[in-house]
Amino acid sequence: MTNNNHSPVLHPMVSPSILNLIGQTTIVKGDGVFVYDKQGNELLDCMAGLWCVNVGHNHPKMNKAITEQLEKIAFYNSFVDFTNEPAEMLANELLTWLKPEQMAKVMFSSGGSDANETALKLARQYWLLEGQKNKTQFISLTNGYHGLHFGVTSITGIEIHKQAYAPLLQNCHHIPTPCLYRNPWTSDSDELADIIASQLEEKIIAIGEHNIAAFIAEPIQGAGGVIVPPAKLWPLFRKVCDKYNILLIADEVVTGFGRSGELFGCRNWQVSPDIMCLAKGLTSGYIPLGATVLNEKVAKAWQHSGPESMIMHGYTYSGHPLACAAGLTALSIVQEQQLHINAAQVGEYLLQSLRPFKEHYSLVGDVRGKGLMVVLDLVECKTSKAPLDPASPLNQQLVQLAQSQGVIIRNVGSKVILSPPLTFTRSHVDTLVKTLHFAFDRVSSN
Ligand code: PMP
Repeated sequence: MTNNNHSPVLHPMVSPSILNLIGQTTIVKGDGVFVYDKQGNELLDCMAGLWCVNVGHNHPKMNKAITEQLEKIAFYNSFVDFTNEPAEMLANELLTWLKPEQMAKVMFSSGGSDANETALKLARQYWLLEGQKNKTQFISLTNGYHGLHFGVTSITGIEIHKQAYAPLLQNCHHIPTPCLYRNPWTSDSDELADIIASQLEEKIIAIGEHNIAAFIAEPIQGAGGVIVPPAKLWPLFRKVCDKYNILLIADEVVTGFGRSGELFGCRNWQVSPDIMCLAKGLTSGYIPLGATVLNEKVAKAWQHSGPESMIMHGYTYSGHPLACAAGLTALSIVQEQQLHINAAQVGEYLLQSLRPFKEHYSLVGDVRGKGLMVVLDLVECKTSKAPLDPASPLNQQLVQLAQSQGVIIRNVGSKVILSPPLTFTRSHVDTLVKTLHFAFDRVSSN
C-alpha cells in the first residue's frame, strides 16, 4: 500500500481521513486469479474485483471479443428503434439461458444499481398497465443490498448505507433477514423459513396487497454478510407473492452466472421469479453492464398500445455494444468451462477448510457460504454472538496482514468476505487458508 494524501478520487465505502491513514493500493495489471500492484507485488484476488471477475483477469478471449467489437464501433444508443448486433445477440442468449424461468424481455443498463432501479420502475409501470395504480410500494429484507441509487438505497436493508442520504423514497418496508446463525427465534432451518415467510405475509396484510408492487431479495444475501437462506424459504416467498398478487424480484447481481454453484441463485431454491436483475458476472466485470429480465407474465403488459405503455426509462449506455460483446464472451466461457460447477466444488472445499476457524479462533463466530461466496462472521463474544465492532482495528489489521502475504481479502463491517474468481482451484484455496491462519494467529496473539 502507498500513502497518497493528494488523490483527487473520492473512494466509496471509506472516509477520506481513514484512506489517508491506510493509503491507496494501485492495481496496474491482472492475470487469471492474480492482480499486481504498482510496486510489482503479486496478489491473489479473493474478491474477484468486486464479486465480478468470474472468468479471471486478462482473459485472452475477453480481450479479443472487446477489441474486435471496438474495431467495428464502440458505441451507439438503443433508444427508440436503434439497436446493435451484440445487444440483440446477448439478449437472445440470456433468454436461452433463462428458458426454465420463462423469461421473455431484457432491458440493459450499466450495472447492478441500474438493473434493480429499472426493476422497481418497471414493476410500478406493470401494475399501472394492469390497471392497479396504487400498487407502488416495495418490501425487502433487512441486510439486503441492492445498490446505491436513491430508489435502491431506499429498499436496501443495511442502515449504514442510508444514514447520510435521507430522506429516501417513502413506503419501502423491510422484513427480517433469514440468518440461521443470528436470529431471535430458532436454530432450526425449516422453522426459520416458516417464521420469515409469515413475517412477509403479515407485512403484506398490514400494508394491504393492493398497495404493494413487489418483494425484492437476493437469493443469497451478499454484502449483508453472505446469508444463505433456509432451503424452504424461497418457495414460500413465491407462494406468498402469488397468494397476494405481488411481483417477486430476484436480485441476482452477485449470484447470477455461477457464483453460488448454480448458474442462477434462484435455481438453488427451484424458484422462478417474475423479474431478475443481473450485472457483475454478466460481463465478468470487463465492461460495466446491467440487465433487468422480465418473465412472460410481466412482459405481456407492454403489449398494450396506449401512451401508458411508453417505456420512459433507459440509459445512454443501455445495450452498450462493447459491454454486450464482453457479455456474450463471458457467458460462453462460463458455459465452456462449466465454472458454476467449479464454484460449487471449490467453494465446498473452501468452506470445509475454513470451518475449523470457528474452534480455533475466539474472533470467528460463524463460517458459512455457498459456492464461491463465503464469510467469516467475526464476534466480540461467541456466546452472545455480538458482532465485532466494525470500527475495531482488528478488521483492518486482518486485511493488511493478508495483503502483506500476497492475498486480497475483503472486510465488510465485522465480516471477512471471500468471493474469488470462479476459476479458483483447491491449491488457491490452500494458499488463502494458510494466509488467513497467519492473519488470525497474529491478531489473536496481540
Ligand atoms: N445488488 C447486489 C446484490 C450487489 O451486491 C450490488 C453490488 N455489490 C448491487 C446490486 C449494485 O451493483 P452496482 O455496484 O454495479 O451498482
